[in-house]
Amino acid sequence: MSRTIAEPYKIKMVEPLRTTTHEEREHAIKEAGYNTFLLHSDDVYIDLLTDSGTNGMSNIQWSKMFLGDESYAGASSYYVLEEAMREIYGFKHLIPTHQGRGAEHLTSITRVKPGQYVPMNMYFTTTRAHVEMAGGIFYDCIIDEAHDTKILHPFKGNVDIAKLQKLVDEVGPEGIAYLNVAPPVNMAGGQPMSMKNLREVRAFADRYKLPVIYDATRAAENAYFIQQREEGYKDKKIKDIFREMMSLADGCTVSAKKDNIVNIGGFMATNDDYYALKARELVVVFEGMPTYGGLAGRDLEAMAQGMHEMVDDAYIASRIRQVEYLGQRLIDAGVPVMQPIGGHAVFLDATAFLPHIPQENFPAQALAAALYVDSGVRSMERGIVSAGRDPKTGKDNKPKLELVRLTIPRRVYTNLHMDVVAESCIELYKHREQIKGLKMVYEPESLRFFQARFEPLP
Ligand SMILES: *Cc1c(COP(=O)(O)O)cnc(C)c1O
Repeated sequence: MSRTIAEPYKIKMVEPLRTTTHEEREHAIKEAGYNTFLLHSDDVYIDLLTDSGTNGMSNIQWSKMFLGDESYAGASSYYVLEEAMREIYGFKHLIPTHQGRGAEHLTSITRVKPGQYVPMNMYFTTTRAHVEMAGGIFYDCIIDEAHDTKILHPFKGNVDIAKLQKLVDEVGPEGIAYLNVAPPVNMAGGQPMSMKNLREVRAFADRYKLPVIYDATRAAENAYFIQQREEGYKDKKIKDIFREMMSLADGCTVSAKKDNIVNIGGFMATNDDYYALKARELVVVFEGMPTYGGLAGRDLEAMAQGMHEMVDDAYIASRIRQVEYLGQRLIDAGVPVMQPIGGHAVFLDATAFLPHIPQENFPAQALAAALYVDSGVRSMERGIVSAGRDPKTGKDNKPKLELVRLTIPRRVYTNLHMDVVAESCIELYKHREQIKGLKMVYEPESLRFFQARFEPLP
C-alpha cells in the first residue's frame, strides 16, 4: 500500500469562507455578465479563478516583510532579492517589476523591432499582447500534441524545433527578435518541457545567434515534472534541476505571483549587460526606480524568501500532487479533462463536455458560469474568449482548445475543498445538456476575457 504524504506545513491562521444560495449565485453571475472575472469575491466560495497572487505565504515570509527597507533608492531589500535570484536562478542582472507583465513589457519594448517574429510555445495572454504592442509577430512553435487534450505526452509543452527551423528559413534569423520559451506552458494546461528539449532550443538559438528568453513564471513546477518524468533526474534536487534549466537561457521574465508564493511582484533577469541597461532606463518610466520596480521593500523581502521556498522538494511535490488529486477524481468519474494533468490547474475540456454548444457560443465561458451557479466555485474560461482577435484581420482567433481552468492556489485549500469542486463538476456533467451557450454583448479592445459581458442564449 502506498502511504499518504501530507502537506509539509501546518495551518496557524485561517480565513473564513462565505457560502451563498443557488438563487444568490444566479443573481450574481447575471450581474457579472456571465464572466467569472466580474464576480465579487464575497460571492465566491472556493476561488479557483487563478493561482496568481492568491498564495498562502509562510510565517517566514510574513516575518521577513517586517525587515522591508522602504528607502526610495538603493533599498537593502533589493540586494536581498538580488542575492536570492542569483542563487536560485543564476542570472546576472535583476530588475523588479510590479508583476509579470511589467517584465514582459520591458523585454518586448527593448528587444522587438516592429515586424520581427517572436516564436513561443503556444502563447500567454499578456506576453503575446506585449509582443504585439511592440510591433512583434507571434509565432507558435509548440509541438502538435499540445493541441490535443487526450494525447498522454510527458512533455506536452515542448518546442517543435522543425517549426523554428521553418520560420528561420522563411524570415532569416534577423527576422526573429528572440525565442520566448515557457517551461511549463500555462495555456496548454501547465504542460512541461523536458530538459532535453530546453537543450535543443539552446543549441538551435546558438546556431542562429538568437537570444532565449524564458517565461520562468512557473519554472519550479516544470522542474518537478523533469524530476518525475525525465531519465536521469529522479535523484536530483529541484533546486539543482531548476538551476540547470535556467543555465540554458539568456534571461527571463517572471510573475512572482505564481511559483514565488507571494501576493504581488515580478521581475526580469538577464545575463546581457546591454539589455539590462536599456531595461533600467525604461523601468523608471513605467514602474519605478530599478531597485524597487513598483514594489514596496517588504514585497521584495517576501519574494526573496519565496524563491527559496519554491524549490523545496517537499513543498513542490505536495503542490502538484494536490492538482493531480483533483484531476484524478474527475478522470475517474469520466469528466473530460485535459491530460496529462499539469502543474497548476485542472482543465475541463468544454468541447467534449458541451458538444451541443458551438465554439461561437462560448462553451467554456458558459461552463465556467454554470459551475459557479452550481457550487460557488469560481473558475475561468481559456478558449475562444481568451484567444481574442487576430490583430491583422480582426477575426476571432479560434483556438483548438476550449477549456475551463480550475486553478489551485498554493497552500490555500485542502483536499476536502478539492472534493467539493470535483463533486460539482461531476454533477454538472450528468446534466450537461441543460447548459446553454452565450452571446457576447460587450467586448473590450484588448485582453477581452477580463471584462467582456455575455447574455445566455434562449
Ligand atoms: C501570470 C503569468 C504571466 C503574467 O504575469 P502577471 O503577474 O499576471 O502580470 C505571464 N506568464 C505566465 C506563464 C503566467 O502564468
